[in-house]
Amino acid sequence: MEIKKLFIDGKWTEGSSGKTFKSINPSNGEVLAEIAEASIEDVRTAIAAAKKSFYKTREWRDMDSQTRGDMLLKIADAIDANKEEFARLDCMDHGKPLREAEADVDDAVHNFRYYASLIKTPHGGVYEVNEGFGKMHSYTVHEPTGVCALITPWNYPLLMGVWKLAPALAAGNSVVFKPASNCVLSSIRLFEIFEEVGMPAGSCNLILGPGGTIGNELAENKDVDMVTFTGSTEVGQSIMRAAASNVKKIGLELGGKSPNVIFADADLEGAVEWAMIGIFLNQGEICSAGSRILVEESIKDQFVKRLAERANAITIGNPLENPDMGPLVSESHMKKVLAYIEKGKSEGATLVCGGERYTEGDCAKGYYVRPTIFDDCTDDMTIVKEEIFGPVVTVQTFKTEEEAIEMANNTPYGLAGAVFTADGSRALRVIKEIRAGITWINCYNPCFNEAPWGGYKMSGIGRELGVHGLEEYQEIKQININLNPGIVGWYEH
Ligand code: NAD
Repeated sequence: MEIKKLFIDGKWTEGSSGKTFKSINPSNGEVLAEIAEASIEDVRTAIAAAKKSFYKTREWRDMDSQTRGDMLLKIADAIDANKEEFARLDCMDHGKPLREAEADVDDAVHNFRYYASLIKTPHGGVYEVNEGFGKMHSYTVHEPTGVCALITPWNYPLLMGVWKLAPALAAGNSVVFKPASNCVLSSIRLFEIFEEVGMPAGSCNLILGPGGTIGNELAENKDVDMVTFTGSTEVGQSIMRAAASNVKKIGLELGGKSPNVIFADADLEGAVEWAMIGIFLNQGEICSAGSRILVEESIKDQFVKRLAERANAITIGNPLENPDMGPLVSESHMKKVLAYIEKGKSEGATLVCGGERYTEGDCAKGYYVRPTIFDDCTDDMTIVKEEIFGPVVTVQTFKTEEEAIEMANNTPYGLAGAVFTADGSRALRVIKEIRAGITWINCYNPCFNEAPWGGYKMSGIGRELGVHGLEEYQEIKQININLNPGIVGWYEH
């Protein structure tokens, strides 16, 4: 089997250690590919290449932003032209249904096009000012931050990388990118496209391997000016500590345990369908998943009955055949999710449906878990407190709006949340009180390249997507111009 390589300083390499790791298809446990594992030396070489590209050769950084934008458009077109291949790679590597993988590729294309157009558009402003020194112009320019290390999780293998790569490159930075080692195939294909369109050597580097060693080096290394990370809160905390070595800029997109609040006056069928999208899309491996359903007591039985009927009707199978749900990403992750389910049972929650591995036919070889609903949950249960990152949802009830808000906010996380109600004023009141960065009214999980994405509290720092997503990777410089050179007369009083 041909070894998939790292991309450092414009060249593909097997790295210095000769070590490899395997990519496993979670639908059947088969090996998809063998991948070169970067050593710490390889990471340092990649950082040095990015540093040279940014501070010495400067080809990408100094390119005018129209031409840089054109390069991003070429990347977008090339991804689009290879859409089926990208979708199949993520589908087989991660386990998401093909139609979801296809939607991810569309989003990735749109994301590159969006940041291409943004970097071509002027922003910043000129102020005419006078603070006693005479009339001046004060204006701002946006400059790239420098060497950026980008670290991503496995749940959206292509898209999570693109959310960082497109704005970081648009801004003119040089990057070292490390995707999660479970799912690297679409990232390797993306870097082939970077090479094809002629990205300058050293401007974009790909390293592959385990986070604990090589990821940590990215966060700690003093030649890295910025580290942005999407992943668990625990690792985010360690990145924050490591980034203190040279006071790197940081961006953190972390975990969540998001509330989905459903009032009795909501459209019931609509709320049920969005609740399903909230927790079963992508097998529930979504940071923003609506994993805590808070439903008004008077409609709880009706709501749970309907949710369970719909959850039991979910089709599970080989993701390439487009079921509603595919397998979880790996055997170890499946075991973790199943352990949470056991914990839920032992702590007294009522299992309404699912609650076990799914092993029908060929699925016996893969890592499938049935959609699972727990009723009668309380705030002190582990399954209510901790992020499960799988198709498992808890149901709790409330009687009043105040109680719903209090329960919604009773979590250290603050990534997302939703409210379902026919009362527009109440919808706005409740959403305003939910301490989370991404919220929805009468829907759950839609996400747009144009709108900022990120968390409050322990769900992160900073924002991806939108204009904010570009500014994360830029320094902003204030330039003040004296319009009347000569004596000011400051010392002649
Ligand atoms: P993870 O934290 O285990 O790993 C994420 C990445 O960090 C991987 O590339 C991993 O190799 C690397 N890593 C691991 N240890 C490291 C270390 N010590 N130093 C540097 N890098 C290290 O997360 P995961 O299991 O891949 O993904 C699931 C988590 O990601 C969930 O908590 C989920 O909520 C979160 N997530 C958040 C968002 C968001 O936008 N907020 C989006 C997707 C996923």
